[in-house]
Amino acid sequence: MIDFNEAEFAIETLAVRAGQHRTNEGEHSEPIFPTSSFVFGSAAEAAARFSGEQPGNIYSRFTNPTVRTFEERLAAMEGAESCVATASGMSAILATCIGLLKAGDHIVSSRSIFGTTTILFNNFMAKLGIETTFVDLSDLDAWKGAVKANTRLFFLETPSNPLTELVDIQAVADIAHDNNSWLAVDNCFCTPVLQQPLKLGADIVIHSATKYIDGQGRCMGGAVLGSKELVGTEVYSFLRTAGPTLSTFNAWVFLKGLETLNIRMKAHCANALELARWLEQQEAVAKVHFPGLASHPQHELAKKQQSDFGGLLSFELKGGRKAAWKLIDATRICSITANLGDTKTTITHPATTTHGRLTDEQKQASGIADGLVRVSVGLENIEDLKKDLARGM
Ligand SMILES: *Cc1c(COP(=O)(O)O)cnc(C)c1O
Repeated sequence: MIDFNEAEFAIETLAVRAGQHRTNEGEHSEPIFPTSSFVFGSAAEAAARFSGEQPGNIYSRFTNPTVRTFEERLAAMEGAESCVATASGMSAILATCIGLLKAGDHIVSSRSIFGTTTILFNNFMAKLGIETTFVDLSDLDAWKGAVKANTRLFFLETPSNPLTELVDIQAVADIAHDNNSWLAVDNCFCTPVLQQPLKLGADIVIHSATKYIDGQGRCMGGAVLGSKELVGTEVYSFLRTAGPTLSTFNAWVFLKGLETLNIRMKAHCANALELARWLEQQEAVAKVHFPGLASHPQHELAKKQQSDFGGLLSFELKGGRKAAWKLIDATRICSITANLGDTKTTITHPATTTHGRLTDEQKQASGIADGLVRVSVGLENIEDLKKDLARGM
């Protein structure tokens, strides 16, 4: 059996081949192992497995062959030594925090992160004695200025949601490392196909596999990637003990998702770029946020740091909330739902949904205008999508 390691093969090959360990049955497609425990040949073998002397499966909370195949494949694609799969993207973030931090530690985080991550930091990490300072994503001086003696973790998403702001990952990694801290990047929007943060100096990559890795909106899951020491030991031992484990079936769906991730991402990116260019020309549209547009303030950084611009865009209608709701309600193809990274195009009004709990001042400070509409561009025909958005414009 060939060992598909990342040094030798390109990401397209790794996405299809890495992590598969064929059984004696000679199956071509990867099998699913729906078993909670594994059987040992003897009492001595059981003892050797439990003590860690002999590697192998014990119990599916922390050792399952299908989950391992998904972990090895994603690790190869991100260029990571270790990967720990989790039950959801949120449990991947939780496992990272609990695995690496202790009471009295401090997090510096981008303000423009997934809303539930903000709540995790503010309500639950704070309860455990871990405080967070939030900074503007692209303001490097703010990252530097927020560091305290007890800072241990930097956390960010780039591009941000819904305004698609970027930050130079290498630059933030350097600030983190100068200050005795790790950088964790939530790479959910780009996936390893478009951006590989570990190669840019990040220490941890986090995924919600629920989004593009599944790609068809079926299963919940997540992953943490990084070194053997941080992820393979610290994060893994939290998972093993606390049990936010990825289900075997979901792992199988995701690893099949990885096989088509390259071609799906290319198609998402092409559709999104074309839609962004078209939106920019519409009379009713005041502004389009998409890193692939020459008008995007960080277009050059996007070209340098990512291999393509992603499938997520947002645009502001001149008519404010009324115009945004009218456009959303007039669509017949787009799904009105907050999920993203699906073959189906989804549309949301951030100011009254994902960002609805912010005060008016907070919305203004973070650029969430009343006329803002976010689209996760799917794989439908691009002309059909333009017509769908034009209908209520
Ligand atoms: C959805 C999402 C999460 C949370 O993932 P779940 O799988 O829903 O728990 C975290 N980060 C980002 C950027 C997301 O979009």
